[in-house]
Amino acid sequence: MLGGILVTYVPNEARYNEMKYNRLGNSGLKLSAISLGLWHNFGGVDQFEKQRAILRRAFDLGITHFDLANNYGPPAGSAEENFGMHLKKDFAAYRDEMVISTKAGYYMWPGPYGDEGSKKYLVSSLDQSLKRMGLDYVDIFYHHRMDMETSLEETMGALDLMVRQGKVLYAGVSNYNPERLKKASDIMKQLGTPLLIHQPKYSMFARGAEDLFGVHEEERIGSIAFSPLAQGLLTDKYLNGIPTDSRAAGASIFLKEEMVTPEVVAKVRKLNDIAVQSGQTMAQMALAWVLRGGHITSVLIGASKEKQIDDAVGALANPDFTATELAQIDKILKD
Ligand code: NDP
Repeated sequence: MLGGILVTYVPNEARYNEMKYNRLGNSGLKLSAISLGLWHNFGGVDQFEKQRAILRRAFDLGITHFDLANNYGPPAGSAEENFGMHLKKDFAAYRDEMVISTKAGYYMWPGPYGDEGSKKYLVSSLDQSLKRMGLDYVDIFYHHRMDMETSLEETMGALDLMVRQGKVLYAGVSNYNPERLKKASDIMKQLGTPLLIHQPKYSMFARGAEDLFGVHEEERIGSIAFSPLAQGLLTDKYLNGIPTDSRAAGASIFLKEEMVTPEVVAKVRKLNDIAVQSGQTMAQMALAWVLRGGHITSVLIGASKEKQIDDAVGALANPDFTATELAQIDKILKD
């Protein structure tokens, strides 16, 4: 028993043996090369015991970083509430072995103070997130998206304040463009709280983040790539139709059946041939590709099943590409 709760989970003792941990910028903080996000599959509409099995498997395989946001669900807020319950039931004794992040920046509540990038919104949203998760602090807090109407000084000032209050250990931003990221980093340096991490979208199908690598490196900002599997498109699951238990067949408004086009499937089929030749699954090759070259600190995956976690972690066993493979992949992506 721990705090009146019957503890049934005993983590794998060997959990730190195989995972890689990469340093974020020039900070003291390392992230597991694979991180788990709770955007889908962890809301009030999802089965609690399924969530629990996925989180346990992730922790057992050395994944230490869990990524949330105020609006994850549905309904918005419920992923944080559920994660708070999982923490209490399974991970209370392991909080110091976890890096937990949350964010604010998209619409969360009605009126002028529940969206965008004001200090008013960010500070109150963080307080709500901490309550939902039952935490005193989060390890990383992100401004979730650019807000061109609020001054960056105000938004960055809010992140600096949270760190100084001890409610957040490290500050980050997500979905920023290179100019705005550089400016945010400059402001944070002046404030004395480094901007430690950027969270852009990056996958074989979304390469825009490559324009950010220069700023990440110059400013020593770590980077975590979200949707590295393009929400599941970069796996073998859609090669023979749309499975009924897939994101594209479900209620997600972010991946719809019509996005699984014959052109996308044809590209993935060619990519999958390269993966199979190198002894990998399609998902493993897609994740290794994002991590190639050391520009990305961690790949931030989602999972609807425990076996998807096993598949992702398996990517670390085969991280290298030959020049020929990289050229073949580039050609398929550009055709
Ligand atoms: P992925 O690109 O990794 O897609 C995950 C989905 O792909 C899974 O839920 C599953 O869907 C499918 N999948 C995963 N592994 C496999 C596998 N091995 N074989 C077959 N299918 C697989 O990431 P997400 O799009 O889920 O995003 C990950 C995280 O990134 C989010 O949880 C969130 O933390 C963060 N994020 C941040 C954003 C931001 O603005 N900062 C925006 C979006 C995401 P299924 O089985 O249901 O088909």
